[in-house]
Amino acid sequence: MRYFRSMQHFTNHSLSTYNTFGLPAKAQNLWLVANEDDLLALHAKGIFAQKHLILGGGSNILLTRDFDGHVVVLQNSGKRIIGQDENEVEVQFAAGERWHTCVMWALQHNFGGIENLALIPGTAGAAPMQNIGAYGVEVKDSFKQLRAFHKASGEFRTFSHSQCAFGYRESVFKNELKDAYIIWEVNFALSTQNHKLHLAYGAINTVLQQKGITAPNIQQVAEAVIEIRQSKLPDPAKIGNSGSFFKNPVVDADFAEKLKREHTDMPMYAAEDGKVKLAAGWLIEQCGWKGKVVGATGAHKQQALVLVNYGGATGSEIWQLAINIQQSVKEKFGVQLQPEVNVY
Ligand code: FAD
Ligand code: NAP
Repeated sequence: MRYFRSMQHFTNHSLSTYNTFGLPAKAQNLWLVANEDDLLALHAKGIFAQKHLILGGGSNILLTRDFDGHVVVLQNSGKRIIGQDENEVEVQFAAGERWHTCVMWALQHNFGGIENLALIPGTAGAAPMQNIGAYGVEVKDSFKQLRAFHKASGEFRTFSHSQCAFGYRESVFKNELKDAYIIWEVNFALSTQNHKLHLAYGAINTVLQQKGITAPNIQQVAEAVIEIRQSKLPDPAKIGNSGSFFKNPVVDADFAEKLKREHTDMPMYAAEDGKVKLAAGWLIEQCGWKGKVVGATGAHKQQALVLVNYGGATGSEIWQLAINIQQSVKEKFGVQLQPEVNVY
């Protein structure tokens, strides 16, 4: 017999534990959804035709005010093996599963491909939304397909890799199909042997060398990533934040050359289509924001790209800080930073 927890509904409920900035915004209605019948029930009630917000772990949002509509938190669970051959396994994660526990589960089974994405907060369902990435690996590299609920029709549809139109921190769900679907299950194709390691990025190699590891396995790569992240990034459980607040700007090569002439030490990385990626954190740091505290908000002392709530800040205060940072960077470098965080 399958046990389904019945859907939970609260009114005028604080969202402080549902967003990693720890902001005290309230939801007029809060729904905790755990199975497909819950989604169908909400659709039948017409909730998706009203003002609403889908939430996973709330680690990529900024709530600037109370939400006078329906907040729907996805809490479906399940990690399973769909099929396997000699070299590859297809796995499926339910949208409500914590992403990091999915990575750990894969590593316990010795399934490779997502180890560099260890310790990214949030849910499996949100991972394809912005094609999460870290240390040279993105979700799109091992993504197979996903199943999503169409809010208008109440029907499920499967999206292939190409239909998701993944880009740098982008997917079709942030663009053409914005707000149209709820991602419900996500499938990945992971390696079972001869794992392809991605070690060139950042400090991964350095950490492995310090440990005397010359031929790392995927578990050791994940451990290195976790160690680097823990040493550098603020833990949202201690200091409210939503990770990188802005995307790294991708600019034309000509403009990048001009910047390089003016700022010879500016970090630049090759991007798609001959474009150049700049490091938003560096630009912000050069404008003097790194470690700066403004009221209860600030740009983190170790990574200026991470805006933080030191306790008691409001979402609109954080948003004002973000606007001020955007203006500084625009004035100094002529670069318009775009938020990566979803602002409500
Ligand atoms: P939420 O914040 O709940 O939602 C984000 C957006 O997606 C919202 O617009 C929401 O409406 C929508 N959404 C969420 N779930 C669904 C769904 N199932 N269907 C449809 N829409 C949905 N990101 C990276 O890419 N790389 C990193 O290395 C990284 N590091 C981070 C480190 C820290 C400390 C923090 C706080 C954040 C970091 N992030 C990183 C950002 C964030 O963790 C990811 O974007 C994550 O995927 C967000 O998941 P979530 O479940 O919290 O999404
Ligand atoms: P970092 O190592 O200090 O590097 C700064 C920036 O330079 C990063 O944003 C990264 O771009 C880029 N970069 C560094 N080495 C690169 C290389 N070899 N090739 C191409 N680009 C390179 O960054 P960090 O803040 O500590 O973060 C480390 C990783 O975790 C990064 O991949 C970052 O994206 C990810 N992260 C993301 C978030 C988020 O909320 N989105 C939060 C924390 C960490 P990319 O960002 O394109 O990788």
